[in-house]
Amino acid sequence: MSASYADFIRDRAFINGQWSPAHSDRIFAVTNPATGAVIGTVPDMGADETVAAIAAAKDAMPAWRKRTAKDRANIMRAWFNLIVEHADALAALLTAEQGKPLAEARGEIIYGASFVEWFAEEGKRIYGDTIPSHKTDARIMVTKEPIGVVGAITPWNFPCAMITRKIAPALAAGCTVVLKPAEDTPLSALALAVLAEAAGFPPGVINIVTGSYASAPAIGEVLTTHPDVRKISFTGSTEVGKILMRQSSSTVKRVSLELGGNAPFIVFDSANIDRAVDGAMACKFRNAGQTCVCANRIYVQDGVYDEFAKKLTAKVAALSVGSGDKDGVQIGPLINEDGIEKVKTHVADAVARGAKLVCGGNTHDAGPLFFEPTVLTNMTPDMLLNNEETFGPVAGLFRFTDEADAIALANDTRFGLASYFYTNDLAQAFRVAESLEYGMVAINEPILSTEVAPFGGVKESGMGREGSHYGVEDFVTVKYTLVGGL
Ligand code: ADP
Repeated sequence: MSASYADFIRDRAFINGQWSPAHSDRIFAVTNPATGAVIGTVPDMGADETVAAIAAAKDAMPAWRKRTAKDRANIMRAWFNLIVEHADALAALLTAEQGKPLAEARGEIIYGASFVEWFAEEGKRIYGDTIPSHKTDARIMVTKEPIGVVGAITPWNFPCAMITRKIAPALAAGCTVVLKPAEDTPLSALALAVLAEAAGFPPGVINIVTGSYASAPAIGEVLTTHPDVRKISFTGSTEVGKILMRQSSSTVKRVSLELGGNAPFIVFDSANIDRAVDGAMACKFRNAGQTCVCANRIYVQDGVYDEFAKKLTAKVAALSVGSGDKDGVQIGPLINEDGIEKVKTHVADAVARGAKLVCGGNTHDAGPLFFEPTVLTNMTPDMLLNNEETFGPVAGLFRFTDEADAIALANDTRFGLASYFYTNDLAQAFRVAESLEYGMVAINEPILSTEVAPFGGVKESGMGREGSHYGVEDFVTVKYTLVGGL
């Protein structure tokens, strides 16, 4: 009989290969954002448990790094196989705690698993160098070594993939890990630990410390200031990323940050409009607009603005909203009260400053955390939506005339994660791609994420890259060995 998602629910954290109960009654509830129902409880841990997890990771590291890359890869491959085998149950759990439609949740599990597979292979190819020596009787070798214990802190919008994207390259490189998953979605993290244990990771190689919203700063402070942690990898808000970066300076840790985005999505007159409309739907409304690479500012050139707005609005109005576990649903709930409040504020602000509401604009009657898919036209740069990520199902359309204006508007932000544009003019494609100040540029494509390419930002969107061979580089140090007297 295949497992159901209930089989993967754990009410304990995972430290040193043990399922650790909460001390006394320090627990917190995990709720389904579609219904408000409690689906589980997990320990509300703090500094002490984080210190214990770091000690376990430190103890486990010498033996783990000593193994051959192939040996580590075999365990990772077993983990990958188990994740894929149980994709349906893991997806159901992910939908229950996060809200995204089941098909998207399943997509995320497979995408999440892909990092485990990719880095299992990539770990075998962490090559060094030999460099022609400066002396006839000496040789220079350059080798790459695992950086050390890794502290990882992840967000709720991709409860599986953000974890594997960090943990898999760390493990492949020979590091051990202490992970603090987001308080809204710890169950998906613990489900991954259930399968990691079954795959045969030794105790202490993967540790998961759960904590509530209130406990996150204490856990984060230990992870960022403890001398035995050598690297922090964080995905989340720019605000928290800055705190972690500051704290990490106390012990000069290496830091990778995947922070906020404010992605421009530009449609030029030369574009294939139907393709651009489909792209905007995928890019904007995936995960109800709650991804850091979702289109946030949609710039459309004069000549195609009306056609684009009309076609987009027709598709947005037809989106099906509801609980993610129901067949055919395309837009689930937002994650929590704060998420809904932000979206409401952005829409009200835009309308107050002169935007035109052409579709949606209110909370949806499916429940308190649901928001109607929304289109706003006549957007202007003074609006909140222009300046911060909305993180909701709201498409704001800005009109522009010149290519140079579109580029200037797109770059006029402190963020620099993903950017998108649609054109059929080859020279324009190169010109614009080279002018966009972003870590990622997609031309005539709405979805960038894949395990084989480097994901990451510039400016206040962060530093470091995840995925691809660049993703391993963040978890190794370079050692230069000089051999003399030869
Ligand atoms: P979001 O806006 O996506 O919720 P956050 O940056 O608030 O982004 O949260 C991302 C992750 O960072 C979560 O796991 C959260 O618990 C954690 N976090 C929040 N504040 C802190 C903090 N001060 N120190 C460490 N981790 C934190």
